[in-house]
Amino acid sequence: MAVRAASLAFMGAGIVLGVAWGAATAGAQPDGSSDFPVASEVRIAGDEMQTRMVIDLNRKIDMRVFTLANPYRVVIDLPQVIFRFSPKTGESGRGLIKAFRFGLMMTGGSRLVLDLAGVDREAFMRTIALGTRLGETLPPARPQIQGKAEPGKGDPRPVIVLDPGHGGIDNGTKSASGETEKSIVLEFARLLRDKVDKAGKYRAVMTRTDDTFVALADRVSFARAQQASLFVSIHADALRRGEGDAQGASVYTLSETASDSEAARLAETENRTDVIAGVDLTSEPDDVADILIDLAQRETKTFSVRFARGLIDSLRNVTRMHKNSLKSAGFRVLKAPDIPSVLIELGYVSNREDLKSLTSAEWREHTAVAIAQAIDRFLTTKLAGSGGGQN
Ligand code: ZN
Repeated sequence: MAVRAASLAFMGAGIVLGVAWGAATAGAQPDGSSDFPVASEVRIAGDEMQTRMVIDLNRKIDMRVFTLANPYRVVIDLPQVIFRFSPKTGESGRGLIKAFRFGLMMTGGSRLVLDLAGVDREAFMRTIALGTRLGETLPPARPQIQGKAEPGKGDPRPVIVLDPGHGGIDNGTKSASGETEKSIVLEFARLLRDKVDKAGKYRAVMTRTDDTFVALADRVSFARAQQASLFVSIHADALRRGEGDAQGASVYTLSETASDSEAARLAETENRTDVIAGVDLTSEPDDVADILIDLAQRETKTFSVRFARGLIDSLRNVTRMHKNSLKSAGFRVLKAPDIPSVLIELGYVSNREDLKSLTSAEWREHTAVAIAQAIDRFLTTKLAGSGGGQN
């Protein structure tokens, strides 16, 4: 059994990453349907001085490792592998590894992201300078949006961008029984796309159509490249254990200051998706030209709020609404300066009744129809040229 190890040396402390290939582990056979390598087990040993992580794979693969700060993370990129780890794997770690996540990053690429604990800034910076003993510290791969980014050639219909949140390595929220936000919202977005498309007046496109990850900024640039008339991000919220219970759907628009503390909490959680997935935010373009886009954004904001209100009117007929159903906060995914954008939280996966709705075909059908109607009402009025008007 060959073992190849990369070591990230911290001052007096270290993480050793090992990959054991050819490990004959039960259940490590590839699916008949695919021949992706299988990661059958991951083991962490050690303490705060030295932590060792070993991943068992059924065949040799290349990997690349890089580090990220704010917060301190180690990212391991692999070709697409099938993870056969037990369900709670990664929720807690050991030693210098506080917790870790794993999953598909893009078609053809999987990733592990390790959250570090007990590492100070100086040691971390030195680690970056040292690089890894793999001998290469390549720039992190950035998943490309899989949808065709060019606007529909010769298709004059307005484009609606539907944005199922999270995906791949980022599960989003999770119900007690294991349903994930990323799957719930993907399925819902597919249904909504079909409703919008069926009417024939608009072209609906999705930022992701499978279980892969898409960075927030890429969702926004995708919508802009599509010259979208409307951007609808779809999510399902959750309260953590001990935070009480909440229920019902809410619609959010972009604002600099949050409308209330709950909206602030939510925006913070939703904006964390890039951190969760190990996206290197230092390579993100700054929020440049904030002043230049301010004027465009003001009109866009008026339209966004108008659409949000219409959406709530529609949703009210088919589903329970949260007691404050219209809120605003600094959601990064809503920052297209020229596209009316809203974020819908369909309900709470942490609430039993909401979860029942979210996973019911009948509820999804009614709710998708209601949203499609709200989209049509909004765009019919807007395209008839009623202008930005008063808010
Ligand atoms: Zn979400």
